[in-house]
Amino acid sequence: MKLYGAPLMAFLLAGLVLAAREFCPFWPTMAFMEEILFFLSGLIAGIRLPDLDLLTPGLSHRSAITHSCIPALLFWAFGFSPIAAGLALGIAFHLSSDLQPKAWTGGALIKFPLLGSIGMLSPLWLIANVIGCLAIFMEMVSGEPIDARQMILALCVLGAGWYFLQEEKRPLLPLMTLGFAILLVHAVRGGTLSVKLVWQYFA
Ligand SMILES: [Zn+2]
Repeated sequence: MKLYGAPLMAFLLAGLVLAAREFCPFWPTMAFMEEILFFLSGLIAGIRLPDLDLLTPGLSHRSAITHSCIPALLFWAFGFSPIAAGLALGIAFHLSSDLQPKAWTGGALIKFPLLGSIGMLSPLWLIANVIGCLAIFMEMVSGEPIDARQMILALCVLGAGWYFLQEEKRPLLPLMTLGFAILLVHAVRGGTLSVKLVWQYFA
């Protein structure tokens, strides 16, 4: 239950939004909520989604297919960009958490279909995909108006708080990912990321 509880909850939330869009007469006045709620459902699902490889026949645990930005890319390709952005951030949390195993052996390693374990390339794979996920997230957020960005920021903090309280024993890397995501949301101005602004944060 623990494993698919969160993705199920996310499904339910997205379904409710779709139902409200279809049947609720007041929905047009609340339509601005739609993208935010889709983002939230993506975020909830994304945090657990990579470990669904445990339940998927044919995939071994820490499969490169689920432990990557591919699920978010798929949603993006099909035009569900708010869900894709939420998924991307959730997966980025998960992968940065997976970056801190006790040892890089056995279950900690990334497995490709057919090829099997990629051994010591696993941490590199995880880092590359955290960056990829953050890029997808940034791409979507930079297209949003300022008030939507503030909502997204609040959701990131809430979602992350829930996640860290629930299960994170070693929160350092996921917290860094969260910090970086917040930085990105702040740094995008007028649809373009300002490098100068990012620099000012560090300086
Ligand atoms: Zn995992």
